[in-house]
Amino acid sequence: MPELQQPLPDAPDEKVGFAVVGLGAYALNQIIPNLGSTQHAKLTALVSGNAEKARTVGRAYGVMEEHQYSYDDFDRIAEDDSVDVIYIILPNALHREWTERAFAAGKHVLCEKPMAVTAEDCRAMIDAGKRAGKQLMIGYRAQYDPYNLRAIELVRGEEKAIGEPHLVFTEHGRMLKPKEEQRDEWRAVKELAGGGSLYDIGIYSLNGARYLLGEEPVSVTANYREPSEKEVDVEEGVAWTMKFPSGATANCSSSYRVEQAKRIFVQGTEGEVTLDPATDYYVRNLYVKTKEKNTQLIIPQANQFTAMLDEMALAARENRTPKTPGEEGLRDVTIMQAIYRAADSGKEVTL
Ligand code: NDP
Repeated sequence: MPELQQPLPDAPDEKVGFAVVGLGAYALNQIIPNLGSTQHAKLTALVSGNAEKARTVGRAYGVMEEHQYSYDDFDRIAEDDSVDVIYIILPNALHREWTERAFAAGKHVLCEKPMAVTAEDCRAMIDAGKRAGKQLMIGYRAQYDPYNLRAIELVRGEEKAIGEPHLVFTEHGRMLKPKEEQRDEWRAVKELAGGGSLYDIGIYSLNGARYLLGEEPVSVTANYREPSEKEVDVEEGVAWTMKFPSGATANCSSSYRVEQAKRIFVQGTEGEVTLDPATDYYVRNLYVKTKEKNTQLIIPQANQFTAMLDEMALAARENRTPKTPGEEGLRDVTIMQAIYRAADSGKEVTL
């Protein structure tokens, strides 16, 4: 046996079985392919409103028709012993209903971000998990990303690489194209998306500021940019400022009208840490600049997807709280609702 770069995976029949609900762009391009490279997880069931798509995907990944479900016959999944975890990858406004149905079927749940539309929905999801005695995790992949984890260490670890962190800048943007891209159709409809650029990508700016500083904001001010197209009924952009108990400030933004921005930048008394891109699927760049040096850090084989999926698998196997539980999703949704209130009122909102 040669020296192994990573531990051997579990035997196939010992891996934790995942059902994926919603065979959209994220599920098919990122999650399902990466499930095959995990140590502890495997794809065992599919749930889709499109039976033909489920059959095609099932054939490709070896998921038999008896493990393919429609939204109508989903509740039968309770009897499917191959499924331990149900991964909800549906439009945001459907997350609560499907999380509750998955818990009612007696399974653990991994739910995509944003956890839900309102804090009330999030609390109902957390309660449903507690009643079922099952775990709820939110798919905050960046919190499993070796680059973001290294940035956290640099900012607030013992080495204090940039002294006391004082200012975070973070921006996430992309062009929303509801007329061209299927995945953007529901994102332009408030009833399904729950919110606009803030709920979709601004959440990376918000979550990033929180995990890099390691503290919770105490107040927020914000302003909107209204949609430029009549087909879009969600806000196009939001800029907001959060104050933290340490005195640090985060200037954050999200926009559906810029070409690709995924940047996080932390300035401290002795230097700065930059992640650009910070939250891309496969490319992250991490830089540290101080008076003495300016370095780029390279971390080989940094796969945030497999790390996230393995955390869910182990939390399910051990029936323990995962690293990014429902409570983490609730915090972001609570703050995002406060950001909207601040933008609506033009006043500082205390959290
Ligand atoms: P898509 O539109 O590509 O996929 C959503 C899927 O949900 C559809 O393909 C469809 O699957 C199913 N669906 C069920 N009801 C509806 C409905 N009424 N309208 C539209 N689709 C419906 O979206 P994404 O995959 O991009 O996003 C899905 C979720 O994943 C969102 O919550 C999003 O925020 C999150 N996401 C997270 C990312 C991350 O990096 N963490 C990245 C991208 C998305 P079917 O045809 O099989 O029924």
